[in-house]
Amino acid sequence: MVKKWGVNPHFQKKPEQLIFQAMFLHRFLVTSLCLGGVSIAGMLSFAVQAQSSYQRPVVIERPKEYKALIQRDPEQRLIELSTVIKNLVYDIRYATNQNFTGQPLYPLRTRVCYLRKPAAEALARVAKSLQQKGWGLKIFDAYRPFGVTEQFWKLIGDERYVANPAKGSGHNRGIAVDLTLIDLSTLQELDMGTGFDNFSDTAHHSFTGLSAQVLQNRKLLREEMIAQGFVPLETEWWHYSLPNGARFPLLNIPFKKVMR
Ligand SMILES: [Zn+2]
Repeated sequence: MVKKWGVNPHFQKKPEQLIFQAMFLHRFLVTSLCLGGVSIAGMLSFAVQAQSSYQRPVVIERPKEYKALIQRDPEQRLIELSTVIKNLVYDIRYATNQNFTGQPLYPLRTRVCYLRKPAAEALARVAKSLQQKGWGLKIFDAYRPFGVTEQFWKLIGDERYVANPAKGSGHNRGIAVDLTLIDLSTLQELDMGTGFDNFSDTAHHSFTGLSAQVLQNRKLLREEMIAQGFVPLETEWWHYSLPNGARFPLLNIPFKKVMR
């Protein structure tokens, strides 16, 4: 994911709790309406709507538009990562229900993963450098069609956990990647202290209450990524993006429509 926790350190709610709360609120609204409590229900409904509504930004939706864009500027092309990186392992969580929403948001069995050309090339350099030391990369997510960010917002609607579609995200621009390190001899993940999409402060780079080995593993990934121009996100050890993403327009091109 892309957004950070709020500033209140006492805020402990997890996305599952929010989903539960949303379901609870929905049930409450239905009950209120049945009991004739229209004014309370109306107010609550308005509050929910105000939180989740947004102004849709400019997004490239049509494959034709995308094609014209990459013809004008080849740097804009989405590159399938396994075509430029050897030994890459994919664990595309949003194509399964093994993600924080508990449901698949990408087509099931998605086996492709894209980044804009400069990001894909930078990641290839990271992989090459790591390979010499016996380490490899496992990818959880990279380019994410804008429509999926809208779905996240519909489900969660809170900027502490998901990107506000009004702004879009580095994933929608194809310049952000969620990843971890693996041991190339076993393909096992290195211990990073938490799993992917863990929304507790344990996932923060500044969290030091972890074993020396975990801190070392995070440092290794961070240093290799930064060396190739990626910028870390303080609240998510797995998320990196290239800076100055605005030159890469937001995309809503489905995976199967991306030209290789
Ligand atoms: Zn991310």
